[in-house]
Amino acid sequence: MARTPDAPCPTAFGYHRRVVTTSVARNKLQLLHSEKLAKLPWLVHAFSTRQGGVSRVYGGKALNLGFTPHDSRAAVERNRELFLKELGVASGRRSWPLISLRQIHSDLIHRVDAVTAQLLVGDGLVTDTPGLVLAVQTADCLPIILADRKRRAVGVFHAGWRGTVKRIVEKGVGEMRKYFGSDPRNLIAAIGPGVQGCCYDVGEEVRTKFEMQFAYASSLFREVKESDPVREKYPLLFLTARAPGHSELPARLFLDLVEANRRQLVDAGVLAKNIDAAAPCTSCHTEQLFSFRAEKGVTGRMMAVAGIRG
Ligand SMILES: [Zn+2]
Repeated sequence: MARTPDAPCPTAFGYHRRVVTTSVARNKLQLLHSEKLAKLPWLVHAFSTRQGGVSRVYGGKALNLGFTPHDSRAAVERNRELFLKELGVASGRRSWPLISLRQIHSDLIHRVDAVTAQLLVGDGLVTDTPGLVLAVQTADCLPIILADRKRRAVGVFHAGWRGTVKRIVEKGVGEMRKYFGSDPRNLIAAIGPGVQGCCYDVGEEVRTKFEMQFAYASSLFREVKESDPVREKYPLLFLTARAPGHSELPARLFLDLVEANRRQLVDAGVLAKNIDAAAPCTSCHTEQLFSFRAEKGVTGRMMAVAGIRG
């Protein structure tokens, strides 16, 4: 795979990159930060990329943060250590605990106040307790971070198309209202890197599921007819055989998952100006990001994390 670690990402507008060489392993960890979230001094947050780290199974050295079947447990644990250090929440061998989930494409959201004995099952975490790093893992699905700038509470959510149909992020805003008294107008949201409308082709059944849930569903999908050079050159040949508009050409359907989640945030009362939705597409940028689809399942996992300084 061609790797251009320092090439700027043209679609990363609104996000800035910090490239730091760690003194321990000399691996360049590259993390993405939302400019809107970065304005909150009490907040620790980041979207990891594949760059840096010690995993060797995904081409070069990679920051795989998920326990995938291909990678070694030791490599993932080392990557997590480097990541926490880079976040500034580790000193020596001690760091803030990293709380992640066994993700199941659900709308289950947990409120956490301390380290749990067992791995939680679900797709969202919220807290107002300082000193915890809440994490979701992705490699195409959208990671979404919410932060309440007044109440100092945070949430992280994992939204693929299934979780989006279940309105996980809309529900996430509701959980923050319920648990922390969050006023949605004080929430800052960042939708991180995931597969975007340019690349996310889905089946007709996905559109049907969205149409059953959202009045605006049709605006989230884009249909692209496969091109056929013969038909384009001799359209009359085909018009005589079939009524206009009744093309038999297969159409591909693309879903704009970013817009779907942005829309849910707005419907839940988050102000449009407080939503950062400009992260790059994973599938377009496999040199920088893990993409399950573009890499046919043989890929690592990135993390979106949020925590509160004490
Ligand atoms: Zn793309």
